Amino acid sequence: METTIQDTTALAVDGGEPVREETLAYGGQTIEEDDIEAVADALRSDYLTTGPTVDAFEEAFADFVGTEEAVAVANGTAALHAAMRAVRIGEGDEVIVPTLTFAATANSVVFEGGTPVFADVEPDTLLLDPESVEERVTDNTKAIVGVDYAGQPCRYDALRELADAHDLVLLDDACHATGGSYKGEPVGSLADLNTFSFHPVKNMTTGEGGMITTDNPEWANEMREFRNHGITSTHHERAERGSWVYEIPEAGYNYRLTDMQCALGMSQLEKLPGWVERRREIAARYDVAFADVDAVEPIAMREDSTCAYHLYVIRLNLDTLSVGREEVFDALRAEGIGVNVHYIPVHYHPFYRENFDTGGGLCPVAETAYECILSLPLFPRMTDDDARDVEKSVKKVISTYRE
Ligand SMILES: *Cc1c(COP(=O)(O)O)cnc(C)c1O
Repeated sequence: METTIQDTTALAVDGGEPVREETLAYGGQTIEEDDIEAVADALRSDYLTTGPTVDAFEEAFADFVGTEEAVAVANGTAALHAAMRAVRIGEGDEVIVPTLTFAATANSVVFEGGTPVFADVEPDTLLLDPESVEERVTDNTKAIVGVDYAGQPCRYDALRELADAHDLVLLDDACHATGGSYKGEPVGSLADLNTFSFHPVKNMTTGEGGMITTDNPEWANEMREFRNHGITSTHHERAERGSWVYEIPEAGYNYRLTDMQCALGMSQLEKLPGWVERRREIAARYDVAFADVDAVEPIAMREDSTCAYHLYVIRLNLDTLSVGREEVFDALRAEGIGVNVHYIPVHYHPFYRENFDTGGGLCPVAETAYECILSLPLFPRMTDDDARDVEKSVKKVISTYRE
């Protein structure tokens, strides 16, 4: 049924001809002339950093996600760190995070002296499982962090119910999901604090960059101080007062985002919805292409959400294959397809094993998923021919390794 001419040719990893000469990366930014113009304009302006473009970008982003406040910071990790500070995470406080995420989600808890508690994910979507969260709640729990894995929002209705029942703060690490929505509500407005990354591989970029959105003006104010050494006034406010005096009630960091970066962010934000559309288009054609390949199972998508498709994640049905995920990974790389694995469960890392006594068995669903997941190339600049190469390569490799 899947027999094409490609299926019968030798794999590149075995010395055959690769599907592509040049490797297709799994992700990448889109930078157009108007983005370059926007940055050039910022460079010609009076402010390279902490100027009017920072405020404008924050306002535009808050409008986009429908929150009162947006606070721009240096990167997505700084956004998580600032959020942990706003919530006052400290010694003895537990924060529940999914283990299938980028390590920064858990690391940010550690930065503030808290304890990350790893929860498992749902077997179909690989999103934070509210039932596993409930099992982890103790008297010391202070917050829950949802991670919108691959760009699909978590079950925020269930997470909100848990948070309310136990008086916890709900956070959304939305770094994958910029431009997505849940039950008609935009990602960025789903939790009490929502964090974004504008790294080039994410759905929009400022080079490095991050944002926190919230409806709580006190938290927003604290995070604006936190990103600027903990100083309670801005240089504009001091200039207006005609005074040099400022106070640092609590040490902060330099986590500022520059005006050049915010200019790029403004320009990118306008185009984000179109890019998410393109991501969804490519994902939809992958869905069709793999529908009859029983060794390939894309993660499940919920009807009530709009996935922003930062990643297209498949699970390999290893029972139907003669090799493991590593061989499939190597074979696809050899064909010129830049596949990746998102993620090594965070509780596997030596830092957490040694300092938080984690290890195998803690999150069985995530651990099983980790053995068979692969992220296929997905970004707006990909052409239909690129997508066809991905489909062709996956089918070629899978049919060769069929049990
Ligand atoms: C990218 C990412 C981060 C960190 O963002 P940076 O801008 O790279 O610091 C945090 N969490 C998740 C889920 C991410 O994907």
